[in-house]
Amino acid sequence: EALDKGLEKTKEGFFSKITKAVAGKSSVDDEVLDNLEEVLVTSDVGVTTTLKIIKRIEERVSKDKYVNTSELNFILRDEIQLLLSENNSNDFRQFEYGDHKPYVIMVVGVNGVGKTTTIGKLAHKLKESGLKVVLGAADTFRAAAVDQLKLWGQRVDVRVVAQPMGSDPAAVAFDTLQSAVANGEDVVIIDTAGRLHNKVGLMNELGKIKQVMQKVVPGAPHEILLVLDASTGQNAFEQCKQFTEATDVNALAITKLDGTAKGGVIIGISDQFKIPVKYIGVGEKIGDLQLFDKKEFVNSLFK
Ligand code: GDP
Repeated sequence: EALDKGLEKTKEGFFSKITKAVAGKSSVDDEVLDNLEEVLVTSDVGVTTTLKIIKRIEERVSKDKYVNTSELNFILRDEIQLLLSENNSNDFRQFEYGDHKPYVIMVVGVNGVGKTTTIGKLAHKLKESGLKVVLGAADTFRAAAVDQLKLWGQRVDVRVVAQPMGSDPAAVAFDTLQSAVANGEDVVIIDTAGRLHNKVGLMNELGKIKQVMQKVVPGAPHEILLVLDASTGQNAFEQCKQFTEATDVNALAITKLDGTAKGGVIIGISDQFKIPVKYIGVGEKIGDLQLFDKKEFVNSLFK
């Protein structure tokens, strides 16, 4: 399965470390817990979440007195599943059209994390499920970004609204929403610029785009999707912090899980930010986007 393949590296790293952590030990004692703590931290789960997991395992161990190391995987699996954000849908056709037509997704994230690719893949999935989709190229600062989005538009056969480089991103968003309404399209996905060097600037820019959207579609954007690259490990946490401070992110896409052993970021980010991980990227190809399902994730990780 694609998820198993995507998580291969994370899984390998994780389990070889756990095997080492319990080597020669039959019961879960302080030394095993110390080792496990190190495994989780080095798997990019993050310190806060790691300490939380260790504390819960400690509690279980002290209650049960003697916990065999062979049970550790089961316990860990339980604890991780508890921390992961709940996904309430396993269907790409999950939007409430009655209230939201068009359903508007504003995509944010720093350059290089896989924003454009995720937009292209998502457009493809939505289109496959019978929805009319339009993309808005509101990252008007990089010519490459607009070209890339257009290329994805051609590839998945979806309309792309763009203006010349340097245009006002809010104007692009406005045009996209207005034409979506006129065309009766179901979903609008707006790409935005990923500059993070100036938080006030970012906040103002995203704020302006949102305001303009609301003039056309009240309640838009319905989804502010932050794209994070799993392979950047702790940087993903920092980006999540910055973007959640700048705007009301309500969904996450975690990309490049296939190329990294740092899949543990999903656990830490879910726990610390309490924002649903909605999509995961497990490859560069058009079909390599999945709806995140915590049960599947944990099953795949512990298979
Ligand atoms: P943007 O600057 O955030 O728009 O990033 P792009 O969408 O251009 O992606 C940057 C690079 O990451 C490209 O080479 C993509 O093919 C690659 N990429 C994006 N998502 C994934 C993924 O899930 N897995 C892998 N392996 N590569 C990805």
